[in-house]
Amino acid sequence: MFSFYFVTCAFLYKYIMKHNFNSGPSILPKTVYEQAAQAVLEFNNTGLSILELGHRTPQFMSVMEEAIALVKELMQIGDDYEVLFLQGGATTQFMQIPMNLLNPNETAAYCDHGVWGSKAIKEASNFGNVQVVASSKNEGYTYINKGFAIPDNAKYLHITSNNTVEGTQWHQLPETNVPIVADMSSDIFSRPINFNQYALIYAGAQKNMGAAGVTVVVVKKSLLGTLQHPIPAIMDYRKHAEAGSLLNTPPVFAVYVALLTLRWIKASGGLSVMEQQSIAKANLLYHTIDSLPVFTTRVAKEDRSLMNAVFFLQNPALETPFLDLCKQEGMVGVKGYRTVGGIRVSMYNALPMASVEAFCNLMASFAQQHG
Ligand code: PMP
Repeated sequence: MFSFYFVTCAFLYKYIMKHNFNSGPSILPKTVYEQAAQAVLEFNNTGLSILELGHRTPQFMSVMEEAIALVKELMQIGDDYEVLFLQGGATTQFMQIPMNLLNPNETAAYCDHGVWGSKAIKEASNFGNVQVVASSKNEGYTYINKGFAIPDNAKYLHITSNNTVEGTQWHQLPETNVPIVADMSSDIFSRPINFNQYALIYAGAQKNMGAAGVTVVVVKKSLLGTLQHPIPAIMDYRKHAEAGSLLNTPPVFAVYVALLTLRWIKASGGLSVMEQQSIAKANLLYHTIDSLPVFTTRVAKEDRSLMNAVFFLQNPALETPFLDLCKQEGMVGVKGYRTVGGIRVSMYNALPMASVEAFCNLMASFAQQHG
């Protein structure tokens, strides 16, 4: 009976279902797919699809209001923060943050811990002085610097809380009085941190928070209003805040999918449950990597990401056969980022433990064949 069950599961995953380890857009909860699909057909007994519903209707405005309220609730933040749903992805925030916060004579401190952080640095340099206060570039971005100096006069310190490409994550914030700005695109809502320690948090939704097309920005009100020159209205956080994220047509469907995902996080038990599950998944995967000599990782142990595990085949010639095997067994999205190579396994909130177990079993049988 049991063997029939396992053979059936293996067949289903190989030929029909997939284990989805994509780095983003990535797996979302099944209930979110179902409810989003239903809303495309008909939204909340309106007789209309969510796709044809006006964004200023009471029905959509209540979607936006609930999404904003849920972000605040999950983050346990108060009315001293604005929650904005914007467009343009996290990449637009690389520009929009310094555009809103930095005057040309001011300095912002940046940490350079990966591909995305270095892009943020490049964009910020167009708006003010950028001081790179920490970098692990010379070591291939395999660790997070600790104990570095941050100039007191910096307007803000920018970090990437989880480096999606390189597989490192901040597990402790640097001690500083400088306001902290964090790109949380790949670990937002994965753990209960003290969000009040941050002056600004931003994230593209397409990993832990929904579908691509919407970006959440959470900013302390006190940080706004220090700009000495005008900026385009559509780039201005203050204008978006005044308009309740309805300054222009928002990405209606993506906001709705974000709302469904936020509801799912809350109903699943909130951020501490997300964290427990992430720890269990990551522990299993890293234990498997560490115990099979066929595989190796260069990431510093204390900085390992719970979201994205990046590792290599000890013998590079085995990388293609391993990736071929993954493909054959329905394991999707495990090829490393193009500039890093190797293997990257993303384990966002919605990824079931069963997928990590299946992947680890595959690693073990590959190691047995090639060890
Ligand atoms: N920052 C991080 C940490 C990311 O992982 C990504 C995308 N994977 C980005 C920024 C860029 O996001 P977007 O594609 O939404 O602009």
